[in-house]
Amino acid sequence: MAVERTLGIIKPDAVEKNNIGGILAMTEGDGFVIKAMKMVRLSVPQAEGFYAVHKERPFFGELIEFMTRGPVVVMALEADGAVKKWRDLMGATNPAEAPEGTIRKSFGTNIGENATHGSDSLDNARIEVNYFFPGFEVGI
Ligand code: GDP
Repeated sequence: MAVERTLGIIKPDAVEKNNIGGILAMTEGDGFVIKAMKMVRLSVPQAEGFYAVHKERPFFGELIEFMTRGPVVVMALEADGAVKKWRDLMGATNPAEAPEGTIRKSFGTNIGENATHGSDSLDNARIEVNYFFPGFEVGI
């Protein structure tokens, strides 16, 4: 399988609950290499730009309010087949439907406040990693 990079975000709910360390342990424990990482507080325009594909969805306003209410941890993650592998480790969007052993099952609260984000395709992973990390910030 090809080595890929994907964008992971530890969302405000997980940061508020002191779950950064637990999520990073699961991430590294599953074989991901963290190539870049930073804690940032997203501005409303930054969050709206990042989630632009969802702007017609009924929950868009709630999503932006949630993602900007406190700091997040943004990571460029590398592994064989990283895009699917990270989505598998996160589990379903709704933590109640996520399997045991997944991040969202362990740390998510509800369908909106679900602890982590992950890119949904390799093309979007490239766009999303670039959105947060200029090339020189991603370790080689
Ligand atoms: P993901 O790819 O699993 O993150 O799910 P989606 O792309 O469908 O949705 C993006 C994000 O929007 C989710 O991770 C949630 O944080 C949020 N979201 C999705 N569905 C809902 C919903 O019904 N209500 C609210 N408040 N937020 C939602």
